Amino acid sequence: MFICLPDLVERSINNDAQNLSLRAERSNPDFIVASEIASAVRLPRNDSKRGILFMDHYTSYILYLLPLFCLLLTPNNINAQPNKTKILLIGIDAADWEMVRPMAANGELPNLAGLIKSGTSAKIHSYNGISPAYWTSVATGVMPKKHGIWNFTVKDPGTGEDIPYTSNMRRTKAFWNILSEQKINVGVVGWYITWPVEQVNGFMVSSYYARQGLETSKGQQPSTRGTFYPTAPQMVYPENLNDALGQISLKAQENCKGKIREIFPPAVLQNPYYLRITKEDRYRSGIGIRAVKWALMADEIYKEIGVDLYRKFKPQVFAVYLGGLDTVGHVFTHFRKKIHNEMLGIFGNPHKNYYKYIDEAIGEIIREADKDTVIIVLSDHGLMRRFHTNNGIFIISGPNIKKNFRSSEPVNLTDIFPTMLYLLNMPQAKDLDGAVYQEAFLESYLKGHKRSYIQSYGPRAISVPDPIRSRFDDEIRQRLKALGYLN
Ligand SMILES: [Zn+2]
Repeated sequence: MFICLPDLVERSINNDAQNLSLRAERSNPDFIVASEIASAVRLPRNDSKRGILFMDHYTSYILYLLPLFCLLLTPNNINAQPNKTKILLIGIDAADWEMVRPMAANGELPNLAGLIKSGTSAKIHSYNGISPAYWTSVATGVMPKKHGIWNFTVKDPGTGEDIPYTSNMRRTKAFWNILSEQKINVGVVGWYITWPVEQVNGFMVSSYYARQGLETSKGQQPSTRGTFYPTAPQMVYPENLNDALGQISLKAQENCKGKIREIFPPAVLQNPYYLRITKEDRYRSGIGIRAVKWALMADEIYKEIGVDLYRKFKPQVFAVYLGGLDTVGHVFTHFRKKIHNEMLGIFGNPHKNYYKYIDEAIGEIIREADKDTVIIVLSDHGLMRRFHTNNGIFIISGPNIKKNFRSSEPVNLTDIFPTMLYLLNMPQAKDLDGAVYQEAFLESYLKGHKRSYIQSYGPRAISVPDPIRSRFDDEIRQRLKALGYLN
């Protein structure tokens, strides 16, 4: 494997804004491939020295030796005592301001509207990449070049097979690793590329793909989204949560039977394969409805599990990911207005309906947080008319955060973790690519809370640098193909 990246260039924040719209036009989610991601250029806020990365045999040997280095290099000078600030991080894949602003304004998204009013909102700035890379950047504060997760799958150099990325391949620590080391209680549910599950100071429910709960047709498994698979190994940490979560998962699947009827009209659910607008859409709508069912089921399971564990364990930092909006947006919107309107006529407006579902889910989760909790809701990118956009959402609300403030400064995906560190009174690490999103904080708070710095929280000990095979691999490939993510 050999990846060569162009030298990354420091750019001003002004250039940044221009690039946003440029990239929004360029990006076509259906056909994004790893090579496009490899050409991704990050627009750093605060650091400049980047080199060329050569990922070859030699590098992978170094990665092998990382655990050894870890013993020698312990994180330096972490003097500051973490405070007790509580953080709730809700990841909503593909939420777009073009939908959220008007729907929130006319009362269709009461929970998001409430957070916007009580906090600061801004655009998320996504680099040119894809969801697994994005969500890993959110969790690590660094770009794919450092964290090593570039796509859904990675080519096996020997066989040429597409193998799903697994959590052991992440080269840098995620917030759940670093906070656990500092004895902060964390909970993580459904985050991208978290199988096999990691040992944390708290709990983790990994994201993975499963065959259960819904009917299949012609062997198609049309979803790229994770779901909970109680009998799979290393899905949950600690393992003794497994039985209870299996029960919640069953209840969530039961809920979906009613909830899917709020997304699609009855006729559509009865016989999706006979619905067509174009030849292409006849195919897409059939598998699309299945994909949305899968996505809804995964979201409902993770939401129910999330609410239950958050309530039970009250971790200081809790993160949950819901991915269904991306699936709905890819299949049930269209860039051609005529086709889009015809789709609305047949399918209702599943995209809009799914936003309402997501808003209700957010409501159920934030109800479990007390008023001292800082709530962050973000997407990794926007999605309109079937394509990813650079109009993703970022909302932060809670103590010391500006109220009802709409910032024009975009938030980098890599800024989320540094901002969490700042909230927790922990030092910034110089090897992170992002920076604290200062625009959201009250001036008085910024003055009273200077940032401190350390070199690094240390490298991640990776025992195996290659993907771990699982019996889900074939299914995952099938589903990625169905949505156009794989050829
Ligand atoms: Zn995404």
